[in-house]
Amino acid sequence: MIKVVLATRNAHKMDEIRQILDEVPVEITSLAELDIEVDVTEDGDTYTANALKKAWAAARATGLAAISDDSGLEVDALQGAPGIMSSRFAGENATDEENNLLLLSMLEGVPEGERGARFVCAAVLVLPQAPPGEDEITCNGQWRGRIGLRPCGSHGFGYDPLFIIPDEDATVAELGEAYKRRNSHRAKAFLALAKHREAFD
Ligand code: IMP
Repeated sequence: MIKVVLATRNAHKMDEIRQILDEVPVEITSLAELDIEVDVTEDGDTYTANALKKAWAAARATGLAAISDDSGLEVDALQGAPGIMSSRFAGENATDEENNLLLLSMLEGVPEGERGARFVCAAVLVLPQAPPGEDEITCNGQWRGRIGLRPCGSHGFGYDPLFIIPDEDATVAELGEAYKRRNSHRAKAFLALAKHREAFD
């Protein structure tokens, strides 16, 4: 069984990823558990580039295989914004609430039928001991929904209170963690990664 380090300090994401990978025979640790600080500037042009950057930084710092992800929200009426800028939409150290308020203000007057959006996620595994060309596995997932007129619900993080799942007529923040673990963009990307069983042997 290989040991992998999760290259994130976001506790919400760590819980989500651990539970999604529950069935995979892999020993998971985290940078927080190893008490290692890794400073990475997320300046890639794509989610995959950013996820690879974070994973390689964690692999180099620990000597372990590393898992990382990068994700964001893409709003149709804003031509895909905030996209890779999602965490700093309202400024470098913006809070989730500030990002949500900015998004709502930019969508003011946009009717319900034109508020479509998707969450997207790139999940990667890097294997520092593998030969070049076989040392990176990258997968993607997406989750369609629409942006509500006001925040609703108290679970999750980021844009969850604004992201409505049309089939449920409720936001992700109302639907809760268990629902999110089964359906999210992150779940889809990590389940695809988990299918690469050979990489985890
Ligand atoms: P990260 O770079 O992958 O940490 O994610 C960038 C940003 O996208 C987060 O700070 C959130 O604002 C947003 N985001 C990504 N995934 C989610 C999610 O599952 N729920 C809500 N917001 C998310």
